[in-house]
Amino acid sequence: MNQLTAEILSRILSIVFILFAIYIFYVITKKMAVKKAENAKDAYICPKCSSLRLSLHDKLPPATRFIGAVPAHNFECADCGYEGLVPKIDKDKINDFRKNLKK
Ligand SMILES: [Zn+2]
Repeated sequence: MNQLTAEILSRILSIVFILFAIYIFYVITKKMAVKKAENAKDAYICPKCSSLRLSLHDKLPPATRFIGAVPAHNFECADCGYEGLVPKIDKDKINDFRKNLKK
């Protein structure tokens, strides 16, 4: 009886340990991804409202995409609804970009 309890306990412990290891791995991977995103020097920015909330907008017909005549980076702004090409600028210059936009 005691031996059985010990065996069950050790199994539970090993499961908990594996789950813990997976959790640690997940947390580290996530932190690294965030750091990498922060370190990225440039970002896409909306030329109309200087929002950074852009999503790749994929309404092009497949044939056009296949030919490659249309630029691949076709974005849609989540804030002002702008559709089309957006500039990619240095993150340090975002504030300058916004200042120039307000003029
Ligand atoms: Zn916008």
